[in-house]
Amino acid sequence: MTTPFPTDWHTALVLVPHPDDAEYGMSAAVNRWTREGKEVIYVMATSGEAGIAGMDPEEAGPIREAEQIRSAAAVGVHTVDFLHFPDGQLTNDASMRAAIDHALERHQPQMVITIFTGEEYAPGIRNQSDHMMFGQAVAETMEDHDDQWLFETAPEGEYFVDVTDEDVEAAVAALAEHDQYLRVLDPETPVIEQARNQVDMSTLGADGSRRSTFILRHERTAN
Ligand SMILES: [Zn+2]
Repeated sequence: MTTPFPTDWHTALVLVPHPDDAEYGMSAAVNRWTREGKEVIYVMATSGEAGIAGMDPEEAGPIREAEQIRSAAAVGVHTVDFLHFPDGQLTNDASMRAAIDHALERHQPQMVITIFTGEEYAPGIRNQSDHMMFGQAVAETMEDHDDQWLFETAPEGEYFVDVTDEDVEAAVAALAEHDQYLRVLDPETPVIEQARNQVDMSTLGADGSRRSTFILRHERTAN
């Protein structure tokens, strides 16, 4: 079953643990939304400072923040906040939920999108602890927020946003901005090729259609 993604909102907050988490498929939808005049804001729990193998976190953090800011701009997102929790060590505790609550207060979104919290992306491919912890912290923080939608990004979700070739190209450009990160992750494959492969994998349907997919966590029932 598939259901069109809600459109009755103006401001979306994308709340994710790491730089690049928004860039695997969702950013094509983000480009469509910003193109259509909606406002999208990114909030990152960490700076992804543990994410570049062989690089000191103190050096990697600012690089990854700068890459994320350029990446967001490629899909029309001009506000990116970093909460500076420790990369790789996120827990769903009171201080995390307070920081999430503060971000919601500050930006007043009607739509919130967080990271996939399922245990496996695909059979045998485990999700990261940071993703499960953080996504769950967002869901718990928003339990009684009936004036806000909450979705997760998903490898296969019931809710979809149709995207155009232009949105896909913007999503590829957005992921490719994570240049140093991707170059270390896979030194053999050019960054732009890695970006295109990843965006294809997450947006290309069997029938050639392009969409970003999401799982509903809770519905907006009040205005
Ligand atoms: Zn991540």
